[in-house]
Amino acid sequence: MAYIICEPCIGTKDTACVDVCPVDCIHPRKDEAAFAAAEMLYIHPDECIDCGACVPACPVDAIFTLDETPRKWESFIDKNTEYYRSRA
Ligand code: SF4
Repeated sequence: MAYIICEPCIGTKDTACVDVCPVDCIHPRKDEAAFAAAEMLYIHPDECIDCGACVPACPVDAIFTLDETPRKWESFIDKNTEYYRSRA
């Protein structure tokens, strides 16, 4: 299980979540080459430890637990996974 970043992050990429994540599983970070081109940030589905710290840090309420991901944003569950699959 992992937390999911959804549509409000597109074009926002605030990165407050990156700063509070204890296991550095949210990418791309500002210091990564992929940051400029990425439309949003993504949570690694296997590395996330479900601590929940990123949820209140997000200024646009983009982050949800897997179970609470709104149906209209279900596609973001795969989007988060896909970001890391393409980089494996
Ligand atoms: Fe990182 Fe915790 Fe958010 Fe998972 S729930 S992405 S471990 S801050």
